Amino acid sequence: MNKVEHIGIAVKDIEAANAVYAKLLGAAHYKMEEVLSEGVQTSFFKVGLNKIELLQATKPESAIAKFIDRKGEGIHHIAFAVENIKAEMARLKKEGFKLLNEEPKRGADNKLIAFVHPKSANGVLVELCQEIE
Ligand code: ZN
Repeated sequence: MNKVEHIGIAVKDIEAANAVYAKLLGAAHYKMEEVLSEGVQTSFFKVGLNKIELLQATKPESAIAKFIDRKGEGIHHIAFAVENIKAEMARLKKEGFKLLNEEPKRGADNKLIAFVHPKSANGVLVELCQEIE
């Protein structure tokens, strides 16, 4: 894995959270993107070389809605940039990690993504992401 690509934060109201994070970070979000397949609206902030991704559910079955029901708002996942997501998934599988996806899927911000089950990583939902060329 190359670096932390972004930290995902589950929020109830993305417009309100955009205002809070703009104040916190001193710069407004640079894009918003809805991921229909995941039922989420996302918003991205740059912090130096890193990014913060805010996520709001757009439907009740969304993983973000379930997360907020269980735990409330807060840090949802940590995403690591990888060069070859399939190779990284195979490596982690071999190491005994439980993956939530069999195949990489298209995520926000022009990425192929896959998740590692939080039970495999000390309670942290880990996202792998590979930039789509
Ligand atoms: Zn993410």
